[in-house]
Amino acid sequence: TAHVAMRLNGLPQPATIAMAQRARALRAEGADIISLALGEPDFPSPSEAVEAAAAAGRAGDTRYPPIAGQPALRAAIVEKFRTQNGLDFLPEQILVANGGKQIIFDAFMATIDPGDEVIVPAPYWVSYPIIAQMMGGVSVPVICREDDGFRLRADALRAAITPRTRWLVLNFPNNPSGAIMERADLEAVAQVLRDHPQLWVMADEIYEHLTFDDRKHVSLAAIAPDLGDRILTVNGMAKAYAMTGWRVGFAGGPLSLIQAMTNIQSNATSGVCTLAQAGSVAALQSPFERVVSMRQTYQARRDRVVAALRDMPGVTCAMPDGAFYAYPGFAALIGKRTPGGRVIDSDVAFAEALLEEAHVAAVPGAAFGMSPHIRLSVAASDDQLAEACRRMARFVASLD
Ligand code: PLP
Repeated sequence: TAHVAMRLNGLPQPATIAMAQRARALRAEGADIISLALGEPDFPSPSEAVEAAAAAGRAGDTRYPPIAGQPALRAAIVEKFRTQNGLDFLPEQILVANGGKQIIFDAFMATIDPGDEVIVPAPYWVSYPIIAQMMGGVSVPVICREDDGFRLRADALRAAITPRTRWLVLNFPNNPSGAIMERADLEAVAQVLRDHPQLWVMADEIYEHLTFDDRKHVSLAAIAPDLGDRILTVNGMAKAYAMTGWRVGFAGGPLSLIQAMTNIQSNATSGVCTLAQAGSVAALQSPFERVVSMRQTYQARRDRVVAALRDMPGVTCAMPDGAFYAYPGFAALIGKRTPGGRVIDSDVAFAEALLEEAHVAAVPGAAFGMSPHIRLSVAASDDQLAEACRRMARFVASLD
C-alpha cells in the first residue's frame, strides 16, 4: 500500500466535509436531503468582482503574481483594515493567501515546533486543531460555556497557558456558536496576554460583518495596540462577500511573521490566482450595502430557526450574535431511541440519525469540541430552513 507520512497519522477529515459528502451521496441515491452542514453563503458573488476578474483576464493579467499579493489588493486590504477595523498596516504587513484557511496553515507552519501548544477556545472551527496537529503541535481546548454566551473568559485562558503555549486562537464572531466578544471581554483577554509575551494571537475575524441586533465586532489589535507585534488579524472574501470559491483570504500582522508566511507560500503555491485577486479588489471597493443586506437576511433566518429550535422539547439554543450558524444542545435527548431503532448516545449518533431518518444534514458538535450539540448553517433559503426545522421537530418528537 502507498506510504502516507507519519504527520498524517490519526488526522481526521473535517466532520463538516464528511457530512456534506454523506448528504451528497444520499442525494445521488435519490433522497430529498436538506444540507445545513456547510458554512457557505447562498448568495451570488458581487457582480463587480465577476466583471473585474473577467476584465483582468482580457487585459492579460495572467502572469505569476507577487507571492504576498498583488499591490492593488494589498493596498485595498490596508484601506479595509484602516477604515473598518481601526488598524494601521503597511502594505508589506499584508499577506494574501488561498483562503483564510491557508493563512492559518502558513501561520502555524511558520511558528509551531513539535509539542508546541495552541489554545483553541471551544467550541471551535474544526480546522485549527487539525492544522496545528499537522505541524506537530498540540491543541488545547478551553471551554467557553453555553450559559456564559460561549465567550472566552480571561481566567479560563490564564489557566490554560503553559511555557509551551505558542498561540491563542480568537475566532469571534465564532464558528460554530455565533458568539461575539464585547470590548470588556477582549480587554480582559489582552490583560492576560500582556503577562505572557511568548504567545502569538490569531484573531480570525472572517465573520466580522455578520453581527446581529446592531452589535459591532471589535478587533483585538485595535483595543490592544501594544500587542500589535504579536497579533495576526485574519480575514477573507469568503463569508462577507459570498466568495467562497474564489479562495482569497488575507491577514495583517507583524512584518517578521508575514515574511515567514510569505516564504512558505513562495515554496508551496507561488501566490493566489491573479483573476481572483482582481475580483477581490473590486468586491472590497463595492458598495457596502450588499454586505448589510446579507447580514439582515441572516439575522431574520437566525430568528426563525432559533425560535423553531427552542420550541422543540429537549432542545436548548443560545442566541447567536453573529456568523450564520445555530448551535443547539440536546443533553436531555441523550439515551433516547429513534423510530429507526438507533440509540442517541452522542451528538454523532444524533446527526447520523437526523440525516438518515429525517434527511437533514448537520454537523455533530464533537467536531467542534463541545457536545452534545449540532451545528446548523442558516445560509440556506427560507423554504429550506423552514422545511429542515419541520423535519427536525418531527424527528425530535418521534424520539422515545
Ligand atoms: N475561519 C473560519 C472561522 C471559518 O469558518 C472559515 C471557513 O469556514 C475560514 C476561516 C476559512 O475560510 P476560507 O478559507 O474559505 O477563506
